Amino acid sequence: MHYEGNIIRPPSEADSILIQVTTGCSHNKCTFCGVYKDKPFGIKDECIIRQDIRYASIFYRHKHRVFLCDGDSLILPQAKLISLFKDINENLPWISRIGTYANAKSIARKSVSELKELKERGLRIIHMGLESGDDETLKRVKKWGDSTTIIEQGRKVTEAGIKLFVTVISGLGGRDGSLIHAEKTGIALTRMNPQYVGVLSLMPIENTELCAQINKGEFDLLSPEETLKELRVMLQHTELNPGYFYANHASNYLPLRARLPRDKQKTLNLIDSAIKGEVNLTPEWLRGL
Ligand code: SF4
Repeated sequence: MHYEGNIIRPPSEADSILIQVTTGCSHNKCTFCGVYKDKPFGIKDECIIRQDIRYASIFYRHKHRVFLCDGDSLILPQAKLISLFKDINENLPWISRIGTYANAKSIARKSVSELKELKERGLRIIHMGLESGDDETLKRVKKWGDSTTIIEQGRKVTEAGIKLFVTVISGLGGRDGSLIHAEKTGIALTRMNPQYVGVLSLMPIENTELCAQINKGEFDLLSPEETLKELRVMLQHTELNPGYFYANHASNYLPLRARLPRDKQKTLNLIDSAIKGEVNLTPEWLRGL
């Protein structure tokens, strides 16, 4: 398989065939994100992608899922995507699910009917970053779009019948903006109503703009207790109908896995116990991205 630079994928795609169709991220401006800083955005040569699909058809017959890399494969024109999905379906007919990352900018270029076309050809899950539901925070971290625009893109995905996994970042509002970030993020998640929410806790990445702001004292990271309080407010304002609220990423101090609405109160109680010091938290040295 032909890969340019480091390849990242969600933990749930560990056993998937990773097909890199674009490199980097077409936005690539978020101040907290370092994943594609050293990789210019580009669309990969169709011949190379087709060779990868042929390779997978011979050597990956035991794998049942495909994940399209890098940051936003949906930025490809619809005709190219249809042709790509056709090639995957013809050569890997045993595949049960195609997934991809997609930022709001690339979803905004698709209509619901175009997303439905992709769903019919196997696109089953999209991983999208909301990061915050607070417009001030989104603007400060240079995310593409405001909360209303990002929510709208998420709703298009679910309307098309494609599962949506939305990530948000605890601590992204800094200390001063913590509670408003938490409350507005919960409200935005409720409006979007994805099947899955994944909460990460902010960890600065070297050579990012946010890391420089932290080093200059312009942005405050939250303490573990402040992070838990923020998480509590976020969950309190999140209503999924139904959906999973995960905070089990390695960056988090308190691993959580809740099915909402069923587990909401139980999970809030667990966070309260952790705030009171009654639950062991992940030590700083074990946290990671
Ligand atoms: S849109 Fe996603 S991948 Fe692109 S810079 Fe922002 S966080 Fe990183």
